[in-house]
Amino acid sequence: MLDFKGIKSTFLSALGISGLFFGLIHFEALWQDKLTIINYLVFPLLIITAVFATQFNRSRIAILCLLWGLYLISEQSTFTWSKWLVGNSQWLLLCGASLLLLLAFMKDRAIFSIHTLTRVVLIVFCGGITFAWLKVSGSFVELFPNTETWKQITPYIPIFLPLRVIGIVLLWRSLRNHDLTQTILLVTFVVWYLNQLHVITLPWSVIAVAMSSIYLLAVSTDSYYLAYRDDLTSLPTRRALNQLALSLGRKYTVAMLDIDHFKKFNDTYGHDIGDQVLKLVAAKMAGVKGGGKIYRYGGEEFTVVFPRKSIEQAIPELDALRESIATYGMVIRNPKRTDKNSRKSKKVSDYKTVNVTVSIGVAQRVAKQSFDQALKNADLALYRAKKNGRNNVSK
Ligand code: GH3
Ligand code: MG
Ligand code: MG
Repeated sequence: MLDFKGIKSTFLSALGISGLFFGLIHFEALWQDKLTIINYLVFPLLIITAVFATQFNRSRIAILCLLWGLYLISEQSTFTWSKWLVGNSQWLLLCGASLLLLLAFMKDRAIFSIHTLTRVVLIVFCGGITFAWLKVSGSFVELFPNTETWKQITPYIPIFLPLRVIGIVLLWRSLRNHDLTQTILLVTFVVWYLNQLHVITLPWSVIAVAMSSIYLLAVSTDSYYLAYRDDLTSLPTRRALNQLALSLGRKYTVAMLDIDHFKKFNDTYGHDIGDQVLKLVAAKMAGVKGGGKIYRYGGEEFTVVFPRKSIEQAIPELDALRESIATYGMVIRNPKRTDKNSRKSKKVSDYKTVNVTVSIGVAQRVAKQSFDQALKNADLALYRAKKNGRNNVSK
């Protein structure tokens, strides 16, 4: 089944950016008289964004800032090159779009490395290819008889056909990948396209300031997720738990959850299946009721915090969670599948259902206790739950 991991971020970004541009167009009077300042401000902003992006290993966003900078310099000055660009607006539009496509297929590598040279070559190559395409497609169009229908189609072939293809590829990649850089590239493409074709008519420096701010926001959101979200389960990490601990009031209950005999599970089915199961169990845990917040503490251990809840209020929720995990039949790939004979035989199914159980230790914070002490008490309770035969909630 196709997995559209980026659907939410793409949708939210589209909504946010539409709002931003609506505001920019609607409240033009607010920034119109500050255009001179904006023209100067845009360069430091692009530099800051590029440095920030490099710091967080988002070199493609840094390249994007660099390209915006180069474009703005060309646009604002009177070099021969700038005049050439005015006369070759089709090339400019298409070249910008193809550079975005190129970035969509690049990896984020260190700026100061041998890859930089390859990238410069690729960027120049992109410009060359675009130029060649416009020449070739122009002559190609002339090869055909000059019928009325053909006349109507021809203007679309050199420009709109590649633009549509690039747009679709960028949209596809943004929807399929859980990667904000892909969404950024799509958004940049749309803005570039609309402003070059005068669908929106904002000064380029204003656009670059807006885009730069969006890049900054994207890089910081991304790095927040990197630091506070667990890769495998997508749950918040222990670092996020420590952050929450600072904001907790006096009354709360904490629970430690540990998957039973998980080592044996890994030994039987392999580490990859173990990971799959960990992910499924984590998704179940994320559905804990009663205002419980769940974190991956480490390995196959999880922590649930119930702010402002007593232990009596938390236990029924935790027991319901324990029960729902114990009765959750998880469909996994049968490890025997790799064996040729069994794969051919219809008797051995490719999939099988497995179950795991969890043990839970719970403790309520008592007066003058620190978060660590409360957590330690939950851990001691977990030890008792294991001793009580596992698959239970202990105080
Ligand atoms: P108990 O019921 O006493 O908790 O038994 P256990 O085997 O679960 O306990 P133990 O803490 O000794 O073992 C934890 C095992 O969990 C060790 C490791 O194989 C497995 N594990 C920890 N983290 C991961 C992970 O990220 N992926 C996978 N697949 N396994 C993990
Ligand atoms: Mg453990
Ligand atoms: Mg365990």
